[in-house]
Amino acid sequence: MRRRIVAGNWKMNGSKDLSEKLVGYVRSEAGSLDKHVEVVIIPPAIYIQDVLKQAGDRISVGVQNVGQWQSGAYTGEISSGMARDAGCSYVLVGHSERRQLFGETDDLVALKVSSIVGNGLTAIVCVGETLEEREAGRAETVVAEQVRAGLAPLAQESGSQGQWQNIVVAYEPVWAIGTGKTATADDAQAMHASIRGVLKSMGAPSEEISLLYGGSVKADNAAALFSEPDIDGGLIGGASLIAEDFVSICRSV
Ligand code: PGA
Repeated sequence: MRRRIVAGNWKMNGSKDLSEKLVGYVRSEAGSLDKHVEVVIIPPAIYIQDVLKQAGDRISVGVQNVGQWQSGAYTGEISSGMARDAGCSYVLVGHSERRQLFGETDDLVALKVSSIVGNGLTAIVCVGETLEEREAGRAETVVAEQVRAGLAPLAQESGSQGQWQNIVVAYEPVWAIGTGKTATADDAQAMHASIRGVLKSMGAPSEEISLLYGGSVKADNAAALFSEPDIDGGLIGGASLIAEDFVSICRSV
């Protein structure tokens, strides 16, 4: 059975206070959530310890970005090994904000993916097309290319079969992120099925890899998206900052 996951990406939001109150609330509700649902909170790195203090056993913690290096003279960066050492189990990579604002290319995504899975962490690899690409009928091609390039290291390495277990793919159409516009459940399902096909063509155990949808997922649209056969959960931005909404989304998966 594939892991069902709801991951809250706080982006550059939050505080010590939110870490305490929101995560404390989620933990207090976590006992009543389906035990097969994995709840992940991904705060700014500086709050990871505050979140971990509240998280208990039921909530996993992730980091929003790592550098591709292990250690050294890279001022401002943190490594996958450090994320693991600090108690994280997930790392976001290739988020469209990193691609658009910080020049994260598919090649860089691939380097980071190698480092993340090499350190035993799960990479949530984000892919998604722009509105322009969708309107030009290129959405599936663009997303397929991002999946192939970002995950190339796993496809190329012999003996990497076990590492696929540490891959989650998040489909986040760029035009849906933070805009209030969501892909229809049908369109999202079609893209997820296409991504699963690409993973299969790469030799990955595609039926075992969790695929998340992200982009304006809210308490009132989550259930419809998550009921699709190839949508195994969500990557939640804005709604993950509102405790009751986030828990409600966790209940919908
Ligand atoms: P959103 O963000 O839910 O606010 O659209 C999703 C994301 O960027 O991960």
